[in-house]
Amino acid sequence: MTRWYPSQGTKHGGTHPPFTTINRIGEPSSAMRRQEQRIHDKRILANYVQLAPGVLVIWDRQPYRVLELAERPLDLWGEKHEMRFATALEHWEIGGKRGERPEKATWGGRPFVFVLQPDGKPHEKPIHLIGPANHTWDVLPEHYWICSACGELPPCRHQEAERIADHHAAHADVLMDIPPGHCLGCGEFVTSRQQATRFPGPNLWRPDLPENSAVFHARQECSTPRERYREQWEARGGMKQQPSLFPDDNRPAA
Ligand SMILES: [Zn+2]
Ligand SMILES: [Zn+2]
Repeated sequence: MTRWYPSQGTKHGGTHPPFTTINRIGEPSSAMRRQEQRIHDKRILANYVQLAPGVLVIWDRQPYRVLELAERPLDLWGEKHEMRFATALEHWEIGGKRGERPEKATWGGRPFVFVLQPDGKPHEKPIHLIGPANHTWDVLPEHYWICSACGELPPCRHQEAERIADHHAAHADVLMDIPPGHCLGCGEFVTSRQQATRFPGPNLWRPDLPENSAVFHARQECSTPRERYREQWEARGGMKQQPSLFPDDNRPAA
């Protein structure tokens, strides 16, 4: 079960041999569910590739082929890694000594050397990286996608920038459609029965609306945008504003 599907971008990779089981706490109460869980676990386990020379991995959005993997000799760890190990040991002791006592030779965070060759560029110098042995890598199939516009692996920086820009644009569109008297957080009407927080002064998010029109529900659900607005409002000098208990204050300005 180690095949790649044509549309599958990556698998997970690491230095440890493939696991044969997944440690779970508790198990489903029905026999069929337990069986389904075992089948599901097989599929998860098949999504792992143990790194070895020749395996393709992603580093810094570029494809590299593993040239060499090496343990750092235990006596050459250096102070930084020794300190990390001491901390891990401390955590194990404080944490009730669960699991086996970390040993330098098998500790997941031990320094490991990864020598990688830019794929398809045999004349470029290989790079030497040092990282924890249990670092999770993204492994590529032999046939992988690259963006023809920029040569990066997907998602390339362009795609990410465009996605963020589209998200902001969609957000701005929805914000611009909120009618006066509606909450700038959820976009729904603030009824006279609902507690609301009003921000006096110009409407920072909807400059097209009149002064004192910025209103949010006081409820928890609308708190994230409300607090974001409050921060911007306070940064501009704000003015002590209070949630109003007058029901007519909560009606939209006609
Ligand atoms: Zn691109
Ligand atoms: Zn709301």
